[in-house]
Amino acid sequence: MDYLEEFPVLFIDDELHSDTAEGRASREIVKELKEEDFPVIEALTARDGVHAILSHPHVCCVIIDWDLTPEPADGMLTAADLITLIRERNPKVPIFLNTEKLAISAIPLSVISRIDGYIWKLEDTPAFIAGHVKRAAKNYLSDVLPPFFRGLMDYVEDYRYSWHTPGHMGGVAFLKNAAGRIFYKFFGENTLRADLSVSVPELGSLLEHSGVVGEAERKAAEVFGADRTYFVTGGTSAANKIVWLGTVTPGDLVLVDRNCHASVMHAIIMTGAIPVYLIPARNDYGIIGPIRSSEFRPEVIAEKIRRCPLVEGPASQPVRLATITNSTYDGICYSTGWIEERLRDVVAYLHFDEAWSAYARFHPLYAGRFGMRRSTDPADPTVFATQSTHKVLAAFSQGSMLHVRQGRGAVDHARFNEAFMMFTSTSPQYTIIASLDVATKMMSGHSGKFLVEEALEEAIVFRKKMVAVAEEIRMNPLPDEKYWWFTVWQPDCIMGQETETNDHLLQEDAGCWLLNPDEAWHGFDGIEERYAMLDPVKVTILTPGVGVGGGMEERGIPAAIVTKYLRESGIVVEKTGYYSFLVLFTLGITKGKSGTLLAELFRFKALYDGNSPLEEVFPDLVRRYPARYGGLGLAEICGEMHEFLRSESITEVVRNVYSRLPEQVMTPAEAYLRLVRGEVTQVPVSSLEGRTVAVMVVPYPPGIPVIMPGERCGPETRAIVDYLGILQEFDTRFPGFESEVHGVDVVMEDGQRVYYVYCVAE
Ligand SMILES: *Cc1c(COP(=O)(O)O)cnc(C)c1O
Repeated sequence: MDYLEEFPVLFIDDELHSDTAEGRASREIVKELKEEDFPVIEALTARDGVHAILSHPHVCCVIIDWDLTPEPADGMLTAADLITLIRERNPKVPIFLNTEKLAISAIPLSVISRIDGYIWKLEDTPAFIAGHVKRAAKNYLSDVLPPFFRGLMDYVEDYRYSWHTPGHMGGVAFLKNAAGRIFYKFFGENTLRADLSVSVPELGSLLEHSGVVGEAERKAAEVFGADRTYFVTGGTSAANKIVWLGTVTPGDLVLVDRNCHASVMHAIIMTGAIPVYLIPARNDYGIIGPIRSSEFRPEVIAEKIRRCPLVEGPASQPVRLATITNSTYDGICYSTGWIEERLRDVVAYLHFDEAWSAYARFHPLYAGRFGMRRSTDPADPTVFATQSTHKVLAAFSQGSMLHVRQGRGAVDHARFNEAFMMFTSTSPQYTIIASLDVATKMMSGHSGKFLVEEALEEAIVFRKKMVAVAEEIRMNPLPDEKYWWFTVWQPDCIMGQETETNDHLLQEDAGCWLLNPDEAWHGFDGIEERYAMLDPVKVTILTPGVGVGGGMEERGIPAAIVTKYLRESGIVVEKTGYYSFLVLFTLGITKGKSGTLLAELFRFKALYDGNSPLEEVFPDLVRRYPARYGGLGLAEICGEMHEFLRSESITEVVRNVYSRLPEQVMTPAEAYLRLVRGEVTQVPVSSLEGRTVAVMVVPYPPGIPVIMPGERCGPETRAIVDYLGILQEFDTRFPGFESEVHGVDVVMEDGQRVYYVYCVAE
């Protein structure tokens, strides 16, 4: 495949347009390069050069004029400064100095050691120079490709006629049908030809980790700081199950973050483990905080085990595995060393579910806050980290990595691989594997840090802008009811003014983002110094309605209405709570993207302040439910919904729901067995008290299970039943804004939505 034309040559020369011998020589070189089909980016000043370097990270070669005249307007930048800038970002891209042989003695060693060669502009012929550049660019680009992806491309190039699966044979089968043809055209020839499934010995085997797949996994281990890395093509959903099935057996005690993903609950069922839960804190805005640090105290864990009715025998029995969500859905990351220290004598294996934070290792801001940190003590436990590469780095959906850091009780690969194979298709998607390989390459070397930094920069700009807007609104003479703006949930040290030192600190100093015990902004208690940190790229925006002490204010704007508005304007947020929503700044961020979000928030404010008719704001909603919403304004519907949530004291209820867990009657595995056998009945939530539930019930928001299979709500956990009742009532009152509750069956009875839950038959 010829991809050279995708990669421009950057030519930085202030004489490029001058009528001098040197200018003419440079123009000849550019002309020749263009004839060789290289796109050429021309920069006429050092400042231009800087912009070009920052905005074109994919150049395949840079040619810099050594005699670049430093200009005061450019901050007196020299060619040497540009070389430093490029090398910080890319240690390998070829750099040629365009100069004269006579000048060479004046070039310092520090420059010579960082470039790849010279162009003698007045002596060599343009064709010779272009050939030289082309060779260097080709070498560089072939080195850029990671092993599996390169192997896959070569294979697709070389073998055009396949007799093996998949049956579409490089996409040909699709061409025999109209829908198939459109499918082929849409996804493109290469996607289909690279869809190889198995039977390709040249590419190795994912199940055996051999050949270039194995090579790619070893490279990923190096880059992500693991002793061993497994590429998982079934998402972190599969990766989590692999960790569990590879380490836990029926009846084993496990320590599980109650704020865990559904896949962890599935793993509890599959292994037949006995779960003991670590409970996360919640604040008044309904934001889920970290697990309280006291939860990790050995005596607290022993007490939990002692009180767990499913445990037989002494409370001092060993815990097989602990799974902690890091970072949490709300962007809180832990000091993993701190957790390890607390759990090292309590658990055999430690597992961090890092579905949302695969980038943490690549920026100093997150130092010590990821599972694959360096450990120097062989007595440390073996640690697993599972990461959805596709969620926050660049990979195809379902692309995930499972990393292992060996310690005490090191994992024997050959045995562990049995669990890996259990959750891996014998025909894995090669394009997913290739994307994991490329994601690794993208994060390796310097490029990882810069990619993360860009997301951080954008997030911080947005956070500061939101504060600045709030300040501006406060300064303006406005009627009382218009003095509101969205608040970002963040430390108070983030100010609206442009101060460069502040920016720098915010990007480099984790201290700015810690949830300090003596600060009020985060609203959590029971947190130790340096234990938990807010990840700046996960931005929670608060809507008006909840007061500082958690009391509900007279006026409020439920977040569901704001995010519905944003969605209809093409902005989809990550997660919506009652009075908060979360937006993510990932590697895919582009400069200024957050400007659109800001603009839409302004539009929302104007529509709200003007009580615009819902016919205009949500025309589809009014068309579907004319009797309910016809004639209402935006401020009115916000008021109605807020009034309902306030009358139910939603913030207090939600707090109580998670403060005490239901009673464990049987293991999740036992409850699931009853479900499969049909030894269950559907029970309306109003009659749920006293019943043993057979499924996991998870309301979104916040996405934490309120009941796990095998658990029973009693009088002390009545809040859970009440909460589900409120959700049900909410659905009936606000059609079009229905809650999402996994694990319930919704049945329409007399125009009301009624939730049914499968319970173990009595
Ligand atoms: C999304 C998620 C998973 C599952 O990851 P997939 O790659 O979507 O399968 C696991 N754990 C957590 C915490 C998640 O958020």
